[in-house]
Amino acid sequence: MPVCTGLNASPDISAEDQRSVFKIGPDVIRRNHLYFVEILSIIGVSVWFGRYLPLHAGREALVCGQTLIKRKQMSIALYDTRTRRKRDFEPANREEVTMYLCGPTVYSYAHIGNFRPAVVFDTLFRLLRAEYGEQSVVYARNITDVDDRINQAAAEQKVEISVITEKYAAIYREDSAALNILPPSMEPTATGHMDEMIDLVSRLLDAGHAYQSEGHVLFSVSSFEGYGKLSGRALEDMRPGARVEVASYKRAPADFVMWKPSGKDEPSWDSPFGPGRPGWHTECSAMIEAKLGTTIDIHAGGQDLIFPHHENEIAQSMCAHDGVPLARFWLHNGFLDMDSEKMSKSLGNVKLVHDLLKDWQGEVLRYALLTGHYRAPLDWTGELLARSRVTLGRYYGTLRRLGDVAATDEPAPAGFIAALHDDLNTPQAMAKLSTLFKAANGAKTDADKAKFKGQILAAGALIGLFEQDPESWFKQDNNETADASDNAHIDQLVAARFKARQDKNWAEADRLREQLNELKIIVEDKPDGSIWRRG
Ligand SMILES: [Zn+2]
Repeated sequence: MPVCTGLNASPDISAEDQRSVFKIGPDVIRRNHLYFVEILSIIGVSVWFGRYLPLHAGREALVCGQTLIKRKQMSIALYDTRTRRKRDFEPANREEVTMYLCGPTVYSYAHIGNFRPAVVFDTLFRLLRAEYGEQSVVYARNITDVDDRINQAAAEQKVEISVITEKYAAIYREDSAALNILPPSMEPTATGHMDEMIDLVSRLLDAGHAYQSEGHVLFSVSSFEGYGKLSGRALEDMRPGARVEVASYKRAPADFVMWKPSGKDEPSWDSPFGPGRPGWHTECSAMIEAKLGTTIDIHAGGQDLIFPHHENEIAQSMCAHDGVPLARFWLHNGFLDMDSEKMSKSLGNVKLVHDLLKDWQGEVLRYALLTGHYRAPLDWTGELLARSRVTLGRYYGTLRRLGDVAATDEPAPAGFIAALHDDLNTPQAMAKLSTLFKAANGAKTDADKAKFKGQILAAGALIGLFEQDPESWFKQDNNETADASDNAHIDQLVAARFKARQDKNWAEADRLREQLNELKIIVEDKPDGSIWRRG
């Protein structure tokens, strides 16, 4: 059996690494060449006049050096799971930056944990568009519309799978829009790429990386030397368990299904290896190849997908492409917990976005998701939502006061952009945003107000906030407080203020007190909590 070694068999000294570290790509060579010519011209001119103007020459060289350092500082650094370090991001082609995110399996409503990667990588999409130009970023977020859970839902409801998938794909898009998630450049579907998947499986069978057994086609992981490099798992450690399924048709426990036979009433597609359907991992490898090419710049997803999903995507794609890497950067977001507990059906703490949107504006959910760094776990609590809502209400208050001021065309503040460039450090960016609003509140002249408003809107566009009219915010906000959830909302504000006092975060406690005053709520502090009544 052939062994596909892969260019990145060793993560530390791979050819792909070397390309990123030394930035050897046609576009980068061209840019570096231009810098080189720039420096040579300055030195040449300086030498020409050197004996008359030596000080001037030195100054020119200094300015040139500073320019180069500044350009370096402006680059985006991203943490790459595969090489386990933060690296400067440089796309292979600045005119076509490619990014892929494993999208939803559309069999039911999506929960808030499903939307963490969607919001995080939408923010990265916005940042890349600002950096390279809107037309230069190609972002694919797939829709998995072939899956056993879809088959089950269709069988239970006695409908075709397309009835289930179209319904929940539409709901997913509605929820996404409510969270200010931009539509991706493309949304490839598994059913739309059946020929490409069959072709991929056939090529891997022909090359001896896959084998047929009991109606299945399986990928042989021992045929790929680089297997386990992304997740840092050794093949011998991949014993049968939760993520390594045991089956009679496997030669080795870690081998995974690329094609499986369908039962009598299950959806089925004809193929050279018998009627059936593709495995999930095969869907992503085939869609990436069809839509974005052999090697993409960024492959993103939740941390839970590193093993086995992304490991298997890498094995299939690299072995189908003579060992060429699938992605130059692998980005993964951390888990989302519910009140410090894992979200699970058995604990009954699964929060659907569809339901959350009945009580909270989508922008509040987005803000709350971005308060933590995307790689860290995020604790989803009622207090986090209440705090996010209060903060956004304060910010929209500023924007309402600046309503008559025409914003000037400004870039977002440098510190805010630098935070996002540093591996999408949204908590730091939020801190910069707070400083910016303080400056806007203190602005005295119309020119300053116009400038700060311009900066706020530019910063908001980068992270998907402040895209609605302030009046629309307050209208929706007041409707919420007028309904039956009113008391629950006040409870959350009071609890958040009590927590802020315990944490000695007096500024936050004062701000919450102000918010409660506006609602005419009188708060009494007791040793073990605060009680409230309407004034
Ligand atoms: Zn995937």
